[in-house]
Amino acid sequence: MSALIDLTHIIYPEHTPRRFSVETIGAETVNKNVVRLQGQWYIMSKISMVSHIATHIEVPYHLFPDGCDLASLPLEICFGQAVLLDFTHIQKRVEISMEEVKEAAERIGGIPEKSIVLCNLGYSSRYGTEEYSQSPYFSARALQWLADSGMKLMGVDAGGVEIPGSEEHGNHGILFSNRIPLIENVAHLELLPVSHFQVAAFPYPIKGVEAFPVRVVAFL
Ligand SMILES: [Zn+2]
Repeated sequence: MSALIDLTHIIYPEHTPRRFSVETIGAETVNKNVVRLQGQWYIMSKISMVSHIATHIEVPYHLFPDGCDLASLPLEICFGQAVLLDFTHIQKRVEISMEEVKEAAERIGGIPEKSIVLCNLGYSSRYGTEEYSQSPYFSARALQWLADSGMKLMGVDAGGVEIPGSEEHGNHGILFSNRIPLIENVAHLELLPVSHFQVAAFPYPIKGVEAFPVRVVAFL
């Protein structure tokens, strides 16, 4: 018996902080060979969006022109055993040190090789509020330690992992240079156990694109 837990924020097109617009059009306007009968509800959607929206995955091509894009992202990275690290005790806008990451990993018995690592900052319920941008963030050494521990994919319930005010994108760089994609704005981490669950997060394979909304699902 397994339970599925949705770790994805719903996209409400009219209430997104970044561009996501939906135009509803009749199917016949897309393909003139299509017949739409008088009064028939047979629609398609024209969507215009920024790729970094809601719960989304970012791959190395975001920062490195020779890094993997969505089309070349290996499927094995997007699925597998996962662990949950708890940082909900860390205050807003405070840096999470390498020592704190190590302690969080020790509390759950370590990080198995090739794990998906979800980091709970306690901010999922603040998504969409002004407070959301005040989440703690990771030191470069903390991320490097996670990368060296065998993390294959990272997820966080915040808008990012970067040091506030830093324009170098150094933390993204550490992940991407270790071929670790990042999922931002993960939801509902409070519903998960600390280990013994799997996560799937498969984005659509699009050539030359660096990020896309992704449905993140945990299997208990
Ligand atoms: Zn992003």
